[in-house]
Amino acid sequence: MTNSYTAGGYIEAWCTKCRLELEHTIVAMVANSPKRVKCNTCDSQHNFRAKPSEKKRIKSKKPLQKVKAQEINYDEFISRLTDNELSNAKKYRIEGSFEKNEVINHSRFGIGIVSSVIQSNKVEILFKDGPRLLVQNRESGLGTGV
Ligand SMILES: [Zn+2]
Repeated sequence: MTNSYTAGGYIEAWCTKCRLELEHTIVAMVANSPKRVKCNTCDSQHNFRAKPSEKKRIKSKKPLQKVKAQEINYDEFISRLTDNELSNAKKYRIEGSFEKNEVINHSRFGIGIVSSVIQSNKVEILFKDGPRLLVQNRESGLGTGV
């Protein structure tokens, strides 16, 4: 026996009430193993348990909360931007080239965030009133009236 537990001794055990692994006082021993313990934190007596039963503890698996392009919260995003970032927002131009999550200043729609680059010439930008598909990388002189 490497473990020399005795009644009245201390042992790390799972407290069913505190739901934590805490120091317990051994109340009763059975065959050289702690049988009943008392939690030194909440004073509750319960059978000795080294670990919580795995089955009960498994939480429903939540997928990692990856922010999808379409689920960007505009207000939240804007509130996180510094004044500097806002004033440096890239001016939207159809000839411009934009990247995901870039902050855009549109002359009509205001501040927006590039939520998705759909194609090399098409981006989705989220503005205060919702996402809009806008053109990017438009070569000058192509139907722009220039
Ligand atoms: Zn306890």
